[in-house]
Amino acid sequence: MICCGRGQIGYRDYTGCTSTIEAVRVSYGSALELGLLRGRTDARTTTLYLFVSNTGCRGSCAFCPQPYGESSRISRVEWPRFSLDQVARTLIGASTLRRICIQCSDEPGIASQAEGIVKRLAPAGLPFSVSASPLSVDDMERLKDAGVEILTIPVDCADKERYRYVKGRDLEEIMDSLKAAVKVFGRGKVGTHIIVGLGESEREAVEMIDTVSRMGVAPSLFAFTPIEGTRMENAASPTIGAYRRVQIARHLIVEAGMKASDFKFGPDGRITGFGCSAETLERVFNSGHPFMVCGCPGCNRPYFNEKASGPFYNYPFRPDPKRVAEETWSD
Ligand code: SF4
Repeated sequence: MICCGRGQIGYRDYTGCTSTIEAVRVSYGSALELGLLRGRTDARTTTLYLFVSNTGCRGSCAFCPQPYGESSRISRVEWPRFSLDQVARTLIGASTLRRICIQCSDEPGIASQAEGIVKRLAPAGLPFSVSASPLSVDDMERLKDAGVEILTIPVDCADKERYRYVKGRDLEEIMDSLKAAVKVFGRGKVGTHIIVGLGESEREAVEMIDTVSRMGVAPSLFAFTPIEGTRMENAASPTIGAYRRVQIARHLIVEAGMKASDFKFGPDGRITGFGCSAETLERVFNSGHPFMVCGCPGCNRPYFNEKASGPFYNYPFRPDPKRVAEETWSD
């Protein structure tokens, strides 16, 4: 149950707007941070997460509720709708925020909507990320000119054979778009999301992380969360052990320049060796960094993939290294 602070319980549209150019969806945690909703959280968001949608998503991702109707959820998160004016007004006093992330539905004209939001919220002085399905080069340049620092184009699925089933489009299209984005935004200013648990093996996840990293694209990890009403509603989330091993591999590839071929894998693709010394591995574990939310600077996505009771796939804070060490080989 959610409350807008004016005593209205249970409504998810607080705008009174009929045009989405005036309105935007705000993640529940972001709405708390802006004071647009009242509630408690033990992990405050450091990024303002917005979702822009107009006519409805034309995509057909098997894991996402958006193509199946007017769902207010993405992954586990509720995204109530507010007017852009409300967001701009309340943003002025939100001192904990370090970034604004605009997530875009797959629709014609979505880049110009994102551009409009960037221009409206620019006075807050925060860096912008935009996450979108493949865009034309013109649209990429338009977003860059408007002040977007990082463009993210989600690969999502690392399983090449099932890619079309899971994403409803071809992997080549995404990779071509990532290459074009690197030309426009530069290496390190393009990101991608990889969802662990969409049917890929650990080896395939590691190979995808390696491939995009070498292109100059920063990969961030999400755990698959089954959502009722989607084609994957009955599939299971990844085991915590598999997720931990892929997190460590991502850290070693992105932060230490290791390659997929440095790792050892079992016949089922499970990671059986990290290709580094025991001392390095211990140092990596003890830092806690591989297990924390990764992505654009300032992005902490509290509870995107997890209940407050856990298990924590991505920690929004530094975790207890002993606990994650046990989880890594737990299955
Ligand atoms: S990594 Fe975080 S801030 Fe960057 S696009 Fe993804 S969700 Fe947004």
